Amino acid sequence: MSPENIIGRFAPSPTGPLHFGSLSCALASYLDIKKLGGSWLVRMEDIDPPREIEGASSHILKQLEAHGLCWDGDVLFQSTRLNAYQDSLNILEQKNLAYHCECSRQRVNALQGIYDNHCRRSHLPSAGNATRVQLNHPNHLIEFVDQIAGPHAQSLAHDVGDFIIRRRDNLFSYQLAVTVDDQYQKITHVMRGSDLLDSTPRQIYLQRCLGFTQPQYAHLPLATSALGQKLSKQNLASALIPGQETLNIWAALNWLNQSPANDLKTGSVSEILSWAISHWDSTNVNRSLTKPAPEGF
Ligand code: GLU
Ligand code: ZN
Repeated sequence: MSPENIIGRFAPSPTGPLHFGSLSCALASYLDIKKLGGSWLVRMEDIDPPREIEGASSHILKQLEAHGLCWDGDVLFQSTRLNAYQDSLNILEQKNLAYHCECSRQRVNALQGIYDNHCRRSHLPSAGNATRVQLNHPNHLIEFVDQIAGPHAQSLAHDVGDFIIRRRDNLFSYQLAVTVDDQYQKITHVMRGSDLLDSTPRQIYLQRCLGFTQPQYAHLPLATSALGQKLSKQNLASALIPGQETLNIWAALNWLNQSPANDLKTGSVSEILSWAISHWDSTNVNRSLTKPAPEGF
């Protein structure tokens, strides 16, 4: 693939500022793309207003800039893409691959994560209902080779069931929006946290239904706290301290097993980034699903 066709992205949700884990994902994806001479895009996944924190998107963009992670082109805000998600949903309906579901939350929760396709045959009208995509092969395995985690396979019918593409409150699901936008932005390389490894087969399934191109996937370990919990905006992982950008990048590079020399800690952001681009080797990253964040993060 020639460099001009190589496109990666960082796709934060504006639910809080970047923490060590999300910075490490942004950095790794940036380095992986810049090493190949490709373009690196930022997409703000702001399609879930109830979970959004005011001011978070501009805070995240400022943090990225402060860390020298400058994106190519304009930021794509998913809130401007609702028509495109609706178009894809219409295509799935025309192909008889989508249906309305009026199961209550209690009913779905009682199924413990694997939907039993209860509403498939009820032909419910759309008003007030969620929309699910229908899995068309009962035992079909979705297989792909993750560039970090290795081969991965999942039977969606067995492990997930027909899944939601538009919620009852009319919000489009993450799975649909991310699939439509990875295609729209011609993304070839997806590098993100391993919490999304299990979502990848759903995205590949939607790509196949919609005739989209499948990008290459690489899932990084999830940074965990001393208590072994995912560092997340939800459990209030500490925000990155302004003014410590070079140190933050150094800590992330070290966590990603890139062996940065100690003297890079005292240089500028652009010095450490240019060192990191030329030395980037994704095969050094741990092949584990989680990895404790360094002390102090
Ligand atoms: N917006 C998602 C998140 O913040 C990530 C989406 C992706 O990289 O596919 O968890
Ligand atoms: Zn239902």
